[in-house]
Amino acid sequence: MKASQFFISTLKEAPADAEVASHKLMMRAGLIKKLGAGIYNYMPMGLRVIRKVESIVREEMNRAGAVECTMPVVQPAELWQETGRFDKMGPELLRIQDRHGRDFIIQPTSEEVVTDIARQELRSYKQLPKNLYQIQTKFRDERRPRFGLMRGREFIMKDAYSFDRDQASAKASYQVMAQAYRRIFDRFGLTYRAVAADSGAIGGDLSEEFQVIAATGEDAIVYCPGSDYAANMEKAEALAPAGPRPAAAAPMTRTPTPGKATCAQVAELLNVPLATTVKSLVLATDETNEAGEVVQSQVWLLLLRGDHDMNEIKVSKVSGLDKGFRFATVAEIEAHFGAKPGYLGPIGLKQSVRIVADREVAVMADWICGANEEDYHITGVNWGRDLPEPDAVADLRNVVAGDPSPDGKGELAIERGIEVGHVFYLGTKYSRAMDATFLGEDGKPAFFEMGCYGIGITRLPAAAIEQNHDERGIIWPDAIAPFTVVICPIGMDRSQEVRAAAEKLYGELLAAGVDVILDDRGERPGAMFADWELIGVPHRITIGDKGLKEGQVEYQHRRDSATTKLGVAEVFAYVK
Ligand code: ATP
Ligand code: MG
Ligand code: MG
Ligand code: MG
Repeated sequence: MKASQFFISTLKEAPADAEVASHKLMMRAGLIKKLGAGIYNYMPMGLRVIRKVESIVREEMNRAGAVECTMPVVQPAELWQETGRFDKMGPELLRIQDRHGRDFIIQPTSEEVVTDIARQELRSYKQLPKNLYQIQTKFRDERRPRFGLMRGREFIMKDAYSFDRDQASAKASYQVMAQAYRRIFDRFGLTYRAVAADSGAIGGDLSEEFQVIAATGEDAIVYCPGSDYAANMEKAEALAPAGPRPAAAAPMTRTPTPGKATCAQVAELLNVPLATTVKSLVLATDETNEAGEVVQSQVWLLLLRGDHDMNEIKVSKVSGLDKGFRFATVAEIEAHFGAKPGYLGPIGLKQSVRIVADREVAVMADWICGANEEDYHITGVNWGRDLPEPDAVADLRNVVAGDPSPDGKGELAIERGIEVGHVFYLGTKYSRAMDATFLGEDGKPAFFEMGCYGIGITRLPAAAIEQNHDERGIIWPDAIAPFTVVICPIGMDRSQEVRAAAEKLYGELLAAGVDVILDDRGERPGAMFADWELIGVPHRITIGDKGLKEGQVEYQHRRDSATTKLGVAEVFAYVK
């Protein structure tokens, strides 16, 4: 590829809504372009990365015996009604109607459609096992699309579905996928951890997430440095001993009186300057009767869901007495505290503050609280615990660093990760719901034993950047770089020698199968180098008149701080 023909559009500044490095750098390097909230153009430079991710995934899926197909993005609602997910899934599922008023959905995943294929096409145990996969556009109307491709609304996923005749065989199929995932993530060249995840109602241990380790990750993962124990927070919690932990000596603060808190009082209560922002906030309140007796103690867990739009803030209320919870609007919270608009002013998103009441409140241990909506519950919340540096809602948890590992092999540590893959044994959940059967060896119909396996194709590059960047830009692992090598000729327009040498090397690298781009745009060296460092091409070869006189070019890996002089023929050893 020649840069003059390619589409390069780098930016000096990242847009203001880009919070994390990967989002900023993807925008600045011209990999993606925003079209709407959580909806992006994959620009030519970005698409090259995505295609490389896809081809690694495709190769390893094929190697593992999975078969590729694609299922429609737009799917009839009837199938989703069979499993009940048309209603159950909530607002994340995008529902649309055609001109006849028939309901459809845009696929967020494809269990229903693939199960429909299986029940029609796979009739006998002799056709099993089968694993069907697709690399296809998904749409999830995420409550909070953010961080660019990390949590988009439209994104690309590889989703695979295995069909087996019995549990033993389904578990073997699951293991084949779990192994294939390890090969895939090894090939990407990223630091990741496979962690046990909660398999929900199905139980058992057959659910693992593949988490790329990064401080900006949205998930908390728990592991034991002394063993291979690793789990996501939900799973770790499920294993943690039940019941409240002993409360550590906690700083005592005033309980706000309902109807009285002001902006300044909240700030005072939080012991933070007015401008401080918080992510989650727990308030305990007592309701008193005329005689001043406490009739009800309540704990409010305020979870902030909107970015800077106060109206999107969702708040949940947990009552210690009835354990019920519900959504409250900002207005209700304001009304409850008698606050003027702006009361929630100091509450933003950067930091989380826990508030401890100055008296015991009548609440039970291990509540489930959160919004009345799937995925927004927090389990195992306890009152009066001393939490280490709470920096997110997820940290209001029952498991903390230093706890003994469930395998007894050491203490737990906690780090943050980005979920890039998920393997899951489903059992007969979908086949039962959709009456999907095959004829078994005994001549009787049996439900398919299923598994599902996802990889966030477009989330992966974002995760890779979170892990691999510096102040100058992205540093791609070779396997998924948009180009592996860039040739930067200095003064190509002036020097015939430089032009000829650059073209020659370019041709030779191409012939050797190296993914190379020749920067023939005629940019000044400074601007040219800055572009390629921002874009993150791992290998750079600079060709100038001076070096050429001695038969040399300069090589620099994106991680190197200085260049190395090489004979032209030596280049191949460096870039392969
Ligand atoms: P998350 O917990 O981040 O919301 P999920 O558990 O809902 O993800 P799965 O249903 O397991 O996601 O989907 C499989 C994979 O698809 C995930 O592991 C992730 O890599 C990717 N993925 C899910 N949601 C998104 C999204 N909004 N944007 C980009 N990739 C996503
Ligand atoms: Mg999700
Ligand atoms: Mg998840
Ligand atoms: Mg998942």
